Amino acid sequence: MPITTLGIDADDTLWQNEDHYHLTTKAFVGLLEPWVDEDTINGALLETERRNLAVFGYGAKGFTLSMIETALAVTDHRIDGAHVERIIDLGKQLLSHPVELLDGVASTLPGLAARYRLVLITKGDLFHQESKVAASGLAEQFDHVEIVAEKDEPTYRRVLDRLGVDAGEFCMVGNSVRSDVNPVLEIGGYGIHVPYHVTWELERAPSKHGHPRMAEVSAFAEIPGAVDRLAERQAA
Ligand SMILES: [Mg+2]
Repeated sequence: MPITTLGIDADDTLWQNEDHYHLTTKAFVGLLEPWVDEDTINGALLETERRNLAVFGYGAKGFTLSMIETALAVTDHRIDGAHVERIIDLGKQLLSHPVELLDGVASTLPGLAARYRLVLITKGDLFHQESKVAASGLAEQFDHVEIVAEKDEPTYRRVLDRLGVDAGEFCMVGNSVRSDVNPVLEIGGYGIHVPYHVTWELERAPSKHGHPRMAEVSAFAEIPGAVDRLAERQAA
């Protein structure tokens, strides 16, 4: 069965995302340094995020609430209203930064769109992700946009069912082995990993290097060649 449909992740695959979170976290640490040291803040923030994922889901709004919760905890509720306001402002900046496409995306997508059905699959805040898709100028390259709560095997099965696409003709492209590659390999699809220079701690997972239906590329422009190689390997 030939590969007919490409799923493409958005954050840190099409455009920058994690860098903004890093800068926001740095500013957050700076705000709390009168009370606590950087390592304590980073550790507490990560634990709060991990705990809150099941309540808030992914995205910048949940992250903002987790920053506030962390600030209250690590300062023993001594943080004042002015500082809480600055944390809320950090969250608003995170929600409104311009969309910066990664290298090779704008030049490579039209060629992929001509050969495959393209589906953008991303998780996070619905409103924020819709805004980013609109601001990116890439929406018309995609046949479908799917904004999901989690990128796991049941989600991919559901999306493919709805599109009427068999897992064996589907290849997912993204920067996260945990969310973009591994679950798709598990259901019988193909995966292309395009690593980004930073990975969110909660997104780390072991890579299935050497899996026959997986490829790794170092830049978005290498994706067309990688899909061809996966298809040739399948045919052989
Ligand atoms: Mg991503």
